[in-house]
Amino acid sequence: MVKLSKRLQMIADRVPVGSKVADIGSDHALLPTYLAQQGIIVAAVAGEVNPGPFEAAQKQVLESGLSKIIQVRSGDGLAVIEAGEVNVITIAGMGGSLMASILEAGKSKLPGVQHLILQPNVGEDHVRRWLLANGWKLESETILEEDGKIYEILTAVTADTEERGTLEALYEERLLPGGVTVSKERLQQMGPYLINEAPEVWFMKWESELKKLAMIVDQLKLSTAEASIAKTEQVSQEMHEIKEVLACLQKVKP
Ligand code: SAM
Repeated sequence: MVKLSKRLQMIADRVPVGSKVADIGSDHALLPTYLAQQGIIVAAVAGEVNPGPFEAAQKQVLESGLSKIIQVRSGDGLAVIEAGEVNVITIAGMGGSLMASILEAGKSKLPGVQHLILQPNVGEDHVRRWLLANGWKLESETILEEDGKIYEILTAVTADTEERGTLEALYEERLLPGGVTVSKERLQQMGPYLINEAPEVWFMKWESELKKLAMIVDQLKLSTAEASIAKTEQVSQEMHEIKEVLACLQKVKP
């Protein structure tokens, strides 16, 4: 039986029982292997674009005796599945921008998919924007820390025609309990649910992001080019808004 990391376990916990799953960028196919061993899924495709991880996935599935349940396929993103073949897609451990481009390129494979379980390592805002633009309802957000790294897991479900008109509401500019107004852009960056819950690890993430942004500003300030000056202003404004949100939510913390 494979044992998952805390991060992969939290992804596994979000897969509905009886699902047919495509795990894209599966690497060692640990997630589908665990799901099959636990009897959570009835079928899976483990997709990999790179030869090394593809072979590792094949080995894992073969050695676990799960070849009847998990098919390991080589290919880019959703190219490894046919439309209607799976009802859940998991993508974990890559950047949000790549994740959004995989979903965009594979749109024709999405009819019939009911759940997307996504764990971007960075750039979660790309994923939230893609979901919103493509009629997916962000259903939940989770944040966790493991081995000094912080991860977010976003789950989305297909929105019916009626719901589609209400998806924007999640990102509507709103007044936080501490009196600060948070913009759509900041909600897409910091998470519309996470901002409400504001767990300790989320504060830790944004304190660390602020340090990275401060370093970017320091670098930009070394240049007198117009583009650098404009970028400095933009990043400084972003930092200001993030700080305001954090300070305001710290204030109202129980
Ligand atoms: N999903 C596993 C996890 O979360 O532990 C593995 C994450 S690993 C860091 C990212 C994997 O995605 C790599 O094995 C890489 O080869 C694969 N990958 C990157 N781009 C991909 C794409 N366009 N299609 C399929 N796999 C991709």
